[in-house]
Amino acid sequence: MIRFFNTLSGRVEDFVPLRPGEVSLYTCGPTVYSHQHVGNMRAYVFEDLLKRFLSFSGFRVRHVMNITDVDDKTINGANAEGVSLQEYTRKYIDTFFADLETLNIRPADHYPRATDHIPEMVAIIKGLLEKGLAYRKDGSIYYSIAKFPAYGRLSKIRMDDLRPGQRVEADEYEKESVHDFALWKAPKPGEPVWETELGPGRPGWHIECSAMSAKYLGPTFDIHCGGVDNIFPHHENEIAQSEAYWGRPFVRFWLHCQHLVRDGEKMAKSKGNTTTVSELAAAGVDRLTIRYLLLSTHYRKVLNFTQEALSQAQAARQRLLDFVLALEGISTSRPAAPSLPNLIAETRRGFTDALGDDLNIAEALAALFEFIRTTNTLIGAEALGTDDARRSLDFLGEVDTVLGVLPLGKREILPEEIQERIAAREAARRAGDFRLADDIRAELVRAGVKLEDTKDGVRWKRVTKDGPRT
Ligand code: AMP
Ligand code: ZN
Repeated sequence: MIRFFNTLSGRVEDFVPLRPGEVSLYTCGPTVYSHQHVGNMRAYVFEDLLKRFLSFSGFRVRHVMNITDVDDKTINGANAEGVSLQEYTRKYIDTFFADLETLNIRPADHYPRATDHIPEMVAIIKGLLEKGLAYRKDGSIYYSIAKFPAYGRLSKIRMDDLRPGQRVEADEYEKESVHDFALWKAPKPGEPVWETELGPGRPGWHIECSAMSAKYLGPTFDIHCGGVDNIFPHHENEIAQSEAYWGRPFVRFWLHCQHLVRDGEKMAKSKGNTTTVSELAAAGVDRLTIRYLLLSTHYRKVLNFTQEALSQAQAARQRLLDFVLALEGISTSRPAAPSLPNLIAETRRGFTDALGDDLNIAEALAALFEFIRTTNTLIGAEALGTDDARRSLDFLGEVDTVLGVLPLGKREILPEEIQERIAAREAARRAGDFRLADDIRAELVRAGVKLEDTKDGVRWKRVTKDGPRT
C-alpha cells in the first residue's frame, strides 16, 4: 500500500488511483522569466522521485507540466529588454529543459505552454461568467470567491475578513489579500493582447493550469504537485475555477514540497539568493550530486542549501560509486554467498516500504546503505564471487530506476591519450620504475583521473580539484 500526505485533508491517506494501474499527474512548471534556480529544481526532483517510484510500483504515469510563458513577470522582463514575449522566454525554456536533463529528470508526457492554450482558457472563463461566478470590471474579468463556498479549503485561510467585491489584479499575492482574482486582464499599453470572444486582453496566471490540466488529464485527476508557495493563491484558485466550471472534484491528492532555503530564506529570484544548476556544475559539483542533495531530504522538510549539505551529498554518493566500482572489480569466481539473495530481498522490501510511506527517502536510503555495509563486509572477507557481484549490481540498477543517481551501464570511455598514459604507468610498474609510475599517476590526477591499484587490477575514477566525481 502506498500512502501520501494530502495537503487538502491535512492527513496521510492511502493512495488508490482513479483508474487501476494508471496515475494522472500534473505538476506546476516554470515561469520562464529567468533561469530556474536549484530551489525550483528541488520541486522538479521531488516530482521526479514521486513519478519514478510510482512507475517502479507498476503504475503507468501520465505526467503533464505546464510552462508559464505569459504572466506579470514574463511581460515585465520582455518589456525591460525591448523584445517580444516569445523571444524573451525562449532562452529560459531552453535552459529549463537542459537543466532537467542534467539532473536526470525523466521527461513529462506533455509540456503545454500557456500561450498555446488561450482558447481553452477563454472557454472556461466564459462558462464561469455564464454561471455567475465571474464578473466584468473595467475590461477585466474577476472570479467572485464569495460564490465558491469551498474557497480556502486547501490553504486553510480564514474567510472572515473577506469583503466581497475587493479585487486583486496581480498574479501573485499574500494570504492577507484574499480577494477576487483576475481571470482575464484588460489590455494595457506594452502588454500582449489576444482578441477573443471575451474581448481583448490576456489571461491571469491561475486559469492556465485549470485549462491545461483538464485538456491533457481530464477534469478530475489523481495528483497535483508544486512547491508550498503554490498552495495560496495559485492552487486555491485552480480549485475554485475548475470545480465551479466542471462541477466535479478537481484533484484527489495534493502533494507540496517544502522550500529549499539559503541562510534561512526561501531561495527566490526576488531575494537575490539564487544559484543555478549550471553555476554549480561550473564550480565543479557533479550533476548527480546536486540531484542527490535535492532528493535525499524528505520533501515535506525544509532543505538548507549549504556547502556542508553539498559535501555530505557528495560523500554519500561517493560511497555508492565506490561500491559500484568494488562490485565491478570482482573477477574471481567463488561459491555464491548464501546470505545474499535474502539480503537483497530484505533491502528491496525496506526500500519500497519506506518510499510507499509518503516517500520516506531517509529510511529508503538507510536500507540501501545498510545493504552496502553488509555486502562490503562480504567483499572484505573475500566471500563474494562474480555471480553475487552481478546480482548486487542488478539490484542497484533496480533501485536506481527510482533514485537516478548512479552512472550504471554508462561508464565513461576515457580518451585515448589517457588510456595510453595508464598503460605506460603499468609498464613502468612492471619494469620496477616506481618513480616514473608515481609521476604518471600524479599527472593523471591533474588531468582529472585517479588510479587505484586493487588485487583485481588497476581501476580509475574521475576527480576534480575539490574531490571525486563520476
Ligand atoms: P516558478 O518558476 O516560480 O513558477 O516555480 C516553479 C516551481 O518551483 C513551483 O512548483 C514552485 O513552487 C517551485 N519553487 C520555487 N521556489 C522554490 C524553492 N525555493 N524551493 C522549492 N520549490 C520552489
Ligand atoms: Zn500551476
